[in-house]
Order: sequence, then structure tokens, then C-alpha cells
Amino acid sequence: MKKSLDRRNFLKLSAAGAAGSILAGSGTLHASALRNTKPEGSNGIIYRTLGKTGIRVPVVNLGVMRVDNPRIVTMALDGGMKFLDTAYSYQNGRNEEMLGELLKDRPRDSYYIATKIRGENEEQLMGQFDVSMKRLQLDYVDILHFHRPTAEQTLDPELLSVFKKIKESGRAKFLGVSTHSNEPEVIRAVIKSNVYDVVLTSYNFRMEYYADLKKAVAEANAAGIGVIAQKTMAGAYWDRERNDPINTKAALKFVLQDENVHTSIPGVTAFHELEDNFEVNKDISMTEQEIKDLRLDEQTAGMFCLGCEKCIAQCPQKLPVPDIMRSYMYAYGYRDLSLARETMDSLSLNADACGNCTSCSVKCVQGFNVAQKIRDIDRIRHIPSDFLT
Ligand code: SF4
Ligand code: SF4
Repeated sequence: MKKSLDRRNFLKLSAAGAAGSILAGSGTLHASALRNTKPEGSNGIIYRTLGKTGIRVPVVNLGVMRVDNPRIVTMALDGGMKFLDTAYSYQNGRNEEMLGELLKDRPRDSYYIATKIRGENEEQLMGQFDVSMKRLQLDYVDILHFHRPTAEQTLDPELLSVFKKIKESGRAKFLGVSTHSNEPEVIRAVIKSNVYDVVLTSYNFRMEYYADLKKAVAEANAAGIGVIAQKTMAGAYWDRERNDPINTKAALKFVLQDENVHTSIPGVTAFHELEDNFEVNKDISMTEQEIKDLRLDEQTAGMFCLGCEKCIAQCPQKLPVPDIMRSYMYAYGYRDLSLARETMDSLSLNADACGNCTSCSVKCVQGFNVAQKIRDIDRIRHIPSDFLT
């Protein structure tokens, strides 16, 4: 029950914090009631500023992770989006290569780009960054993220010095951290670091602990940290069979009610999804129906894993259950089997993930039947990769 109240309160607090009162009962949360949400200029797009970086971008941009048609990127940029998000690991490097080819014909000041690297020491991080820059064919990226570190790694002096070195070299204008587990803790580590300028965090209407997440995001904003939201669509479907789609426009608008979120990078694979996002870029107000569509009062598990990591300690094998659940969401929610397989392959699991475990001791806070989902998605590792691309 707490979950639904928190979600409802989130929406109320978002509006109340900005406008001084909530428009409860009116059925519509108007963009004009919020600071930083009015369309600007002749294109009608709503812009916000990424903290102290001063980078001013539309509230909705492009997560390139699953894009395999470069025309989607072209259409996004031509439609007013300014910011592209990729990573060293996406599509085994093809994602950065595609962007490199496409962007070389565009003026460098006509877009912003972020990429992400992951590693445990200078050699690994520098090695990935050099490869990323070659693939992107760029002299610099606007934001370089440390990809999914723990809070401890976010504050590790050795790793911080690697990122500082990269920024000093001019090959990254700003530094960031991307997170989709234990987000509030990681965001607070980002603030404490005094090194990172931006945080890229999961943020959506399904998150049970978003009261704390919202607080951490507000603290980040107050500290001048740019805040970018990801995983805004919460898995895109309520069910594994994909008979029950989430209203993704409503989900995106919901996140943008929080004025401390400066922009978002929903992943897109089809032109009609991009069209929806163009519309949200010009109008983030929520209708009564859209609020209803998010089922804020229901306890439906859906497909989105909260990344709370509470399951890991409960599993005798300490399986990376949140990562496996993410892979499940990629397969069944996004229908991206290749990404699901890549994610599973990166986890160094035994041939049979749950091995001889006869009964599952994990009690997921979302109510997932974790063992069943693991059995289900684990099959993907036995399919030849070339069938999945
Ligand atoms: S599987 Fe459940 S308990 Fe584990 S991180 Fe996801 S939501 Fe939390
Ligand atoms: S069945 Fe459950 S407890 Fe056993 S290894 Fe799998 S996730 Fe862990």
C-alpha cells in the first residue's frame, strides 16, 4: 500500500513544489504551472539547463542504445533534439561507429553527445575511452559518464583521478555517472565527489523508493549537478506477452513533472516513438486519462526491476539478479534479444545460472518470481548470437 501512496504523492509533490499548489481534481497538470517548462522560441520546444554545465537542451532527447537505423538519429536532430546518449558497450561498439559516421557531416556545435565507459582501473578506462573516441571520430565528447559504478567506486580516488585527467585533456568537456541501481546513494556520491558534473539516473513512475530518489535528485540540482533521466518507460509493457503496453508518453511526462530533472533520453527504435517524444518536448502537461493510465494505485509487478539489490543478499549464490531482470525486460519488454543476450553474457554466470538450487529464497520487493524469470531468460544464452542480430 505504501508504494501506491508514494507514487501518488510524488506526482502531487512535483506539482506542488513548483507551483505552490497542486491542481488536484482539475485533471490536468499544466506545463505553464511549472518553472523551466515553457516552450521557448519559434519551435515550441521546452528547454532546461543541465546544472552548472550550462548546456541547454530540450526536455526530451535521444537514447541511441538500441537504434540500428541511422535515419532515426537524423530525424531526432532535425526535429529539434540536441543531445545523443551512447556508450562504449552498446551494440558491441556498432552504436558509436554508427554515430561517428553520421555526425562527421554535422557542425560540431549543432549537437551534444555523451558516451560511457566502465572499468576498475586506469588502463581499462583509458583503453575504452580511446576506442570510443576513435569510433565516434570526435576530438571531444560533451559528457563522459562512468558507466554504472557503485557509490564506493564513484568516490574511489584512483578512478576519480582518471576521469579528472580525461577532462583536463579536453577530450571530455564534462564528467558524469550513470546509474540504474541504488540510485539515491550513487547520486549523493556524485555530489560528494566534487568531480562529476552530471548524473544519468533511472527515474520512472514504477520506482518504489522515488520519494528518496526525488530528494536525491533535488539535492543534485541544488548542488549544480545536471540531472538526466533514463529508463523513463519502465519496461514499456505491463506484461511479458506484450498485450498490455504502458502509456509511454504519460510515463515520460510523469518524470518531467519534476523540474529538477533537466532532460531525459528515452530509447527509441521506431519513428512513431520518436514522433511521440517530439510531442512531449512541446507539452509535458498530463491529462486525467494519462495519470489514470499509469495505474499509480495498483500493485502490478510489471516488468521493471527497481534495481534495489535487496535480492542479492537473499540468494546463496549472490547472483546479479537485478542485471538478469534487466535482461529479461530487454527481451520481453523491448523485444531486443541481442541486447538481452549481451547483458546476460556480460554477467559471467555459470552454465546454468541457478545451478542446483532447489528452492528460491529470494523475495523480490516487486513480487517477481525471480527463479522463474531467470530460468526463462537464461535460455537466451544457448541461442547462437547470429540468430539474434
Ligand atoms: S529483482 Fe526485485 S528485489 Fe531484486 S533488485 Fe529487482 S526489484 Fe529489487
Ligand atoms: S533459485 Fe533463487 S536463490 Fe537459488 S540461485 Fe536462483 S535466484 Fe538465487
